[in-house]
Amino acid sequence: MAYVVTAPCFGCKYTDCVVVCPSECFREGDQMLYIDPEACVDCDACRPECPVEAIFYEDEVPTEYQEFIQLNAEMAEKTPPIFERKTPLAEP
Ligand code: SF4
Ligand code: SF4
Repeated sequence: MAYVVTAPCFGCKYTDCVVVCPSECFREGDQMLYIDPEACVDCDACRPECPVEAIFYEDEVPTEYQEFIQLNAEMAEKTPPIFERKTPLAEP
């Protein structure tokens, strides 16, 4: 099991989640972040930090965001790690 980043993350300019992760799980995509499910230790630190509630525990991902479970796993292998807060993630 792991935590999963979902659609509300698109275009986040704050990346508040990244700095609290003890396990360097976050990966930076063009439009959103992803969590590497292999690295995530289910600590729950990131979830309450996200201002738009984009992060869910895998078992609690809403039905409409189920595809993001697989997407995080796939994209985590293709995108670089991000460790520090960064602005902006995506310009309109
Ligand atoms: S805090 Fe993290 S998960 Fe939440 S929207 Fe911003 S980058 Fe995405
Ligand atoms: S649950 Fe913990 S280990 Fe997993 S991504 Fe969030 S902060 Fe990192």
